[in-house]
Amino acid sequence: MTANCAVIVAKDEGEVRTHAKEAILKGAQALEFRLDSFPVIPADLSFLACGVPSVATLRSPLDDERKEIFLRALASGATYIDIESDSVLRNRFPKESVICSYHDFEKTPAEDEILAIFKDLRSSGIPKAAFMVRGPADLLSVWNAASVLRQAKAPFILIGMGAAGEITRIRAFDLGSMLNYCALRPELASAPGQITLEEAERLGTDPEVTAVIGYPLTHTFSPEIHNAAFKAANIPGRYVKIPSAPEELPLIPEVIKKYRITGMNVTIPHKESVIPLLKRIDPLAESAGAVNTIRNSPAGLEGYNTDILGIAASLASVDMDPKAADVLIIGAGGAAKAAASYLKAAGAKISITNRTHARAETLAAMFGARAVKLEDLAPEYQLILNATPAGMSGFEHCSPVPDTLFTKDTVVMDMIYDPEVTPLLAAAKAAGVHACINGKTMLIEQAAASFTLWTGITPDRAVMRKAFEMRAA
Ligand code: NAP
Repeated sequence: MTANCAVIVAKDEGEVRTHAKEAILKGAQALEFRLDSFPVIPADLSFLACGVPSVATLRSPLDDERKEIFLRALASGATYIDIESDSVLRNRFPKESVICSYHDFEKTPAEDEILAIFKDLRSSGIPKAAFMVRGPADLLSVWNAASVLRQAKAPFILIGMGAAGEITRIRAFDLGSMLNYCALRPELASAPGQITLEEAERLGTDPEVTAVIGYPLTHTFSPEIHNAAFKAANIPGRYVKIPSAPEELPLIPEVIKKYRITGMNVTIPHKESVIPLLKRIDPLAESAGAVNTIRNSPAGLEGYNTDILGIAASLASVDMDPKAADVLIIGAGGAAKAAASYLKAAGAKISITNRTHARAETLAAMFGARAVKLEDLAPEYQLILNATPAGMSGFEHCSPVPDTLFTKDTVVMDMIYDPEVTPLLAAAKAAGVHACINGKTMLIEQAAASFTLWTGITPDRAVMRKAFEMRAA
């Protein structure tokens, strides 16, 4: 059985007792005392006898001093002392009082290697290993190793670190890890990807898990928005990031199955390449040729496109009816396809321009549109819609089209939401266009539609918008 273990860091004896009390009141079933967080280790370690199993951890190169402190910790009531596998102190204490730990802050090895590490650690105490998770392959190594370790019916602790490892903490009960290390408060987190005790208690043993896959996944606001919606709807659920390099995309169905993921959002660059991995594609996604939402249904993985609903809601927010309008789509990727699909169905006259003209031609042919080279663009559009990352945080700070395209009647929509005003929107505003829209409404609306597909519940959009604003601040 897994216990939520609050990690206690403190600067003095008074604080350690206050923090321990707070953790137990919040539901912690075990406490890890980071003795190395004290500037000076207190003479009285009786706080280690705290009413729940306690672990004394002290990372320090001074082994003689450490040995004496560990002896005092055990005498004062610590249930376990945590000793690293490469320490000279490793076999100097009774095995039943030792958690023998191993950390790899760079990678997760393959399943066989993880099992070999555990076999070695078990000779000195309860084995504990924490690995940096980089993506789907590492998540599967952790899962598969835990499945073997569980069969031995002996306690073990296995943790995936980093943002991509967060799901191993949320599914710690499925993995069978003896302890699920949690931060007492967000600012007291002691390891990358660690969730708070409050959050672990809210999630319980069997939360809903949703995720976003893409590569890289640095800019996304989706976790904040979805996690706020879960809380507001009183659903024990958590939305996590799983950065997935293109070569690891085929592993996603197995990750979904093993970690019991309810659904996923799909972002750059997987919206099209994910399609062959799915059992059924919704007609709207089929017509767009792009999927931004996967639902794990009993019949298999289903693909949807909620970006289309986001685009429709964004245009409606400025009363833009695209019927018979001359529209320019900039870009030829998944989001551009969703836009072309929606605008064609809405009766717009579509032109497409793209950095790589051949891709604009292919997309134009799919939707009966016109492909226009960047250098041939003229100010003839009522709606200009950017579906490229040009101008997005982390990308080149530039507009994807010349500033000469705008008239006072043009509506300009940029799918980018970070920054709030992109170079394209700044130029459009300066030219006095009819209306400007950034990607915020699209993001909220596509997220809300995905949330409903996964949970059957209409989320509170005001809460989602507030979470967006807090993240953007
Ligand atoms: P994608 O499939 O990877 O396509 C990217 C497109 O942008 C391609 O046409 C590419 O041109 C073009 N491009 C890439 N870098 C460029 C640059 N520096 N200058 C000019 N063009 C560039 O991506 P996607 O999924 O369609 O997403 C596109 C954009 O829409 C992203 O910024 C994404 O964040 C945004 N988006 C926002 C929302 C929202 O909810 N607000 C939803 C979906 C997408 P090439 O063909 O030449 O490579």
